Amino acid sequence: MRYSKLVALIATLIFSIALTSRAQAQNPTAQALASPAATPAPLPPPTVKIDGYRAAAARIIGAALTSDRAYARLAHLTDHTGNRLSGSTNLERAIEWALTEMKRDGLDNVRAEKVMVPHWVRGEESLEMMTPVPRKLQMLGLGNSVGTPPEGISAEAIVVHNFAELDRLGEQVRGKIVVYNAPFVNYGVTVSYRLQGASRAAHYGAVAALVRSITPVSLQTPHTGAMSYDPNQPKIPTAAITIEVAEFLQRMNDRGDHPRLRLKMEAKFLPDAESANVIAELRGSERPDEIVLIGGHFDSWDVGQGAHDDGGGCIVAWETIRLLKELGLKPRRTIRAVLYTNEENGTRGGNAYHDAHRAEIAKHILAIESDSGVYRPEGFGLAATTPLQVRSNLQEIAKLLAGIAADNIAENGGGSDIGPLMRDGVVGASLDVDGTHYFDIHHTQADTLDKVNPRELALCVATMAVMAYTVADLPVSLAAEGR
Ligand SMILES: [Zn+2]
Repeated sequence: MRYSKLVALIATLIFSIALTSRAQAQNPTAQALASPAATPAPLPPPTVKIDGYRAAAARIIGAALTSDRAYARLAHLTDHTGNRLSGSTNLERAIEWALTEMKRDGLDNVRAEKVMVPHWVRGEESLEMMTPVPRKLQMLGLGNSVGTPPEGISAEAIVVHNFAELDRLGEQVRGKIVVYNAPFVNYGVTVSYRLQGASRAAHYGAVAALVRSITPVSLQTPHTGAMSYDPNQPKIPTAAITIEVAEFLQRMNDRGDHPRLRLKMEAKFLPDAESANVIAELRGSERPDEIVLIGGHFDSWDVGQGAHDDGGGCIVAWETIRLLKELGLKPRRTIRAVLYTNEENGTRGGNAYHDAHRAEIAKHILAIESDSGVYRPEGFGLAATTPLQVRSNLQEIAKLLAGIAADNIAENGGGSDIGPLMRDGVVGASLDVDGTHYFDIHHTQADTLDKVNPRELALCVATMAVMAYTVADLPVSLAAEGR
């Protein structure tokens, strides 16, 4: 998922939906328009001194960029295991493999922490137009959706651009399949159709809901992702359709063709399954109980290979501590890498980490999540609640990454797996990357290794490793004032 965008833009939801139109979706400034224009508070001067870290940073960057280990590991994960939905044997095989390899790497305290996860299965599924033009349509069921009866649901489609149009139609959608053809504004805004579309249509008596994929571009690639039901509404099946199918149905609708569809889905929940968060550390030399936490989520959707989302983010965290160990760089504090389970359809891994480590939450100096793809790194996003002195110090440390243009400290960072820690006061950050093409492939069959550029992945490792090492090794602390 991409939590930072979601949080950043939730405040602009109503405004942006009002702006939604086909023209706007093609307009590259739409995303910029939707960004909140908060005036940043003036920062106090940094209290950290980075000159003593320049040599280590240069070594880390050099080693990361001349190693093919991260890419080789990601290739093994994606090609030998493939996608890793919670409850799948693929995910459990990947977890076993990671534990074995981490021990072979000689990392400290390698362990699995058990987590029970939801087990949703897709089963067979299809969508076809019955009349006026019989044809198969590209679709992908949304995660957590209920299935249809075995014979499917056959009904007339009615297409809306947004929730306002749905509300105007009201009871006219009763007995029909509501199709949301909402153009992509940005992930945080447009994902509301995926999350809430089914229940809001069910409120007016719709029998199923189809959602235009949450993406700016499409080559007939449907995008799945989690949806959730309003407990006060009937549960109706819901699936993603491609932009091409959404536009096709829109034209049919607008011409008065009354397209009739048949949706078949076998989707269902099985009993919760056992899974685990995978943890490995580089133990600190002086204050091992203090922790810099880095990580990504090891589960993925059940399509593609989960390469960018979020196999790459996991490999970045893992390779960060392996590389530091290889370089003999032992920081004062512990760097702990976590491969969280079940981010995509439950966040049980992030919650379980928080609950299992309640006693040491105050010892978490910084928590960084890498879950925006492993494209060219730009720096880090910090949560809005980050204390100004910490922000100033992280901005200073990020200067060590200026040589690879990864020194930007942005607003609105964080992540869904570290969310529970952040709510308890831990400073949260996200590894920020050039997200231009992330949502082209996000949650699709096309999130595969070939979309990962080995050099960009290595740059992500370098960026994470320089930041994690420096913060973990500071002689005073990240939050220290006026020294
Ligand atoms: Zn993700």
